[in-house]
Amino acid sequence: MLLSEIKTIAVLGAGTMGQGIAQVCAMAGYKTLLYDIDSSLLQKALGTIEQNLESALAKRKITAEFKKLILENIRLVNELNDVHVELVIEAVVEKLEVKQQLFAELEKINHNCILASNTSSISIAQIASGMKNRGNCIGLHFFNPAHAMKLVEVVVTNSANGELIGLMKQFVKSLNKIPVETKDSPGFIVNRVARHYYVESLKLLEEKVASIESIDKLLRSAGFKMGPFELMDLIGIDVNLAVTTSLYNSFHQEVRFKPNHIQEQKVLERQLGKKTGKGFYEY
Ligand code: NAD
Repeated sequence: MLLSEIKTIAVLGAGTMGQGIAQVCAMAGYKTLLYDIDSSLLQKALGTIEQNLESALAKRKITAEFKKLILENIRLVNELNDVHVELVIEAVVEKLEVKQQLFAELEKINHNCILASNTSSISIAQIASGMKNRGNCIGLHFFNPAHAMKLVEVVVTNSANGELIGLMKQFVKSLNKIPVETKDSPGFIVNRVARHYYVESLKLLEEKVASIESIDKLLRSAGFKMGPFELMDLIGIDVNLAVTTSLYNSFHQEVRFKPNHIQEQKVLERQLGKKTGKGFYEY
């Protein structure tokens, strides 16, 4: 397939990441379908995209005509069976079984389409394991907030079709983002290295070495753009915990990736960060 043949994209999952990915695809001129298993979330997602565009308009980064065009490029879909596209970008919950099932199902609906996963930590080869044509599966790992962050990890399995890698790099560039190729290994590059930012900060908190606010403030002043706790609130504490757990298991319970009970408790109490109005901070 050539880049010019990719006209319609489906983004699956209209949560934190799906919203941003749908926005950037629509901004780049692709007809973009947005699907979520919970269709009541679709309007909310569109509302967030509209707000982002409104703020870009206020800053004169886009024109009113362009905003209208972007919104016209987005179509909300309630049924997976309506997903007939050239490229799917999956951004659903970080659970292997859910992604595996979705990909196997999608392959039946969409015979030759490219299936990309935005997973943060799950092996792309495992996600593709139920597919007939595994060569069509790849990782496209966007960062949060997806409409602003430039980097996209292009995660390549051993079975990926040769031309798929180059095509996906071109696609990422067409979104005005920077592709970085990585092998399909646990946590890829960024999440593997960044894990210790969260794990070690949670340990500091557990050992009462410093408060949440102090740790965030110090790390910000040390040069990090965000402190670990405000970053976990932005990511979603449930999503962050799922990624840590996935890496912990992939590395055979290596203690350096061990999830922390403080985070587990927050998830049990549904204090998930910005998206629920409370996490380590209140919003
Ligand atoms: P989220 O919890 O905000 O949204 C997930 C969405 O998936 C929900 O709206 C849910 O209803 C939907 N969903 C669940 N099962 C589904 C199914 N079978 N079909 C369709 N929709 C389904 O999660 P998120 O933060 O957007 O994360 C999504 C993916 O992106 C995860 O794989 C995560 O690891 C990855 N990711 C997250 C971040 C981040 O900072 N949050 C960054 C990069 C990658």
